[in-house]
Amino acid sequence: MASVDTLIVSAPGATCAPELADGPWTFDLGTPGYGPGASMGDVIPTGSPRQGQLPVEYQQATGAQLHDRIRAAKDTLGDRVVILGHFYQRDEVVQHADFLGDSFQLANAAQTVPNAEAIVFCGVHFMAETADILAREGQAVILPNLAAGCSMADMADIDSVRECWEQLEALYGTEPDAEGRVPVIPVTYMNSSAALKGFCGEHGGIVCTSSNAATVLEWAFERGQRVLFFPDQHLGRNTAKAMGVPLEQMPMWNPHKPFGGNDAEALSDARVILWHGFCSVHKRFTVAQVEQARLDFPGVRVIVHPECPTAVVDAADEAGSTEYIRRAIAAATEPTTFAVGTEINMVNRLASEFPQHTIFCLDPVVCPCSTMYRIHPGYLAWVLEALVRGEVLNQISVPDDVAVPARVALERMLAAKPVI
Ligand code: SF4
Repeated sequence: MASVDTLIVSAPGATCAPELADGPWTFDLGTPGYGPGASMGDVIPTGSPRQGQLPVEYQQATGAQLHDRIRAAKDTLGDRVVILGHFYQRDEVVQHADFLGDSFQLANAAQTVPNAEAIVFCGVHFMAETADILAREGQAVILPNLAAGCSMADMADIDSVRECWEQLEALYGTEPDAEGRVPVIPVTYMNSSAALKGFCGEHGGIVCTSSNAATVLEWAFERGQRVLFFPDQHLGRNTAKAMGVPLEQMPMWNPHKPFGGNDAEALSDARVILWHGFCSVHKRFTVAQVEQARLDFPGVRVIVHPECPTAVVDAADEAGSTEYIRRAIAAATEPTTFAVGTEINMVNRLASEFPQHTIFCLDPVVCPCSTMYRIHPGYLAWVLEALVRGEVLNQISVPDDVAVPARVALERMLAAKPVI
């Protein structure tokens, strides 16, 4: 399959730029943002880890040279290392992965190799944190490029969530109602920092993924009168709407305004309070793209990710997690045309994997997840060769005071619905 590098073009409506294909190290020296990529406007928050310059030998190596160096290092390390590749990762990296999956599948996959000394996570920062929370004592989790954050996860920081919580407690109090339900249950999407998962663990809350969000919301409604859902407004809104919660009872919380920009009445009636975060990749999908796909391909099956805006989910035939999308396509017995609303690397891989179907991305302008994109083979070769020398680079370590409550929130999720 052609590298996604060759597909990124300048086009009207693009939020990314062809320079992205030049090499992510060009953006590692103080550029104030993640871009270009999913959105040029995505800003790295203050205090986020920054990646130092990749040694020049890795910047200048050809794709074939890096491939050979990664292979050689991996062969030398053998079972001492496990490489995890996210569905949205570029193919040049995924081909070296021992496991391919979504963030939680990968964190669990890492647990199946307890003898590995190092887990190299080719994904983004919050995923490496989750792997570290679940890893056994002594295993090092490595993120090949520290600038591989997630712009959505960064939209909810722990200080803003704590301030929000204080305001909600002031409004609702802390006493349960006659049925024993507390005023608010915090629910965080897997795509969030370890600190937010820890916050949920400490405050009777839980973590969800895009595949179990409905089950988790049911769990939360059994225990609480309402839910504070962060950071992705779209996943929260789409999931709660499908469960019958009216949109009027889902106010949005803007952390820059008192009471999130809401009046007391709206907050009293609320069933789900939605943080104002979003994914820059999935926000690009539009109803017009769905309509165009239906015009161009009568009978097309449109499947989108629930991080897309609600109008897009409503216009599509189906919505579901990355794993749902993969399974839906794998289960189609007749040749089918699929228009898919999720990250381009995943869509291209599905198109290669299932040549009996016509599979294309709903968005004609290719803008990959710019933060995933930071994991270039050069960084993978760099961390693996360091491991061969006995050096651990770019280790992601979650301190115990965060990891312990975060594990509680993750275990509540697993108890609510085991991962399949
Ligand atoms: S696709 Fe969106 S949610 Fe996923 S890592 Fe990229 S920015 Fe974050």
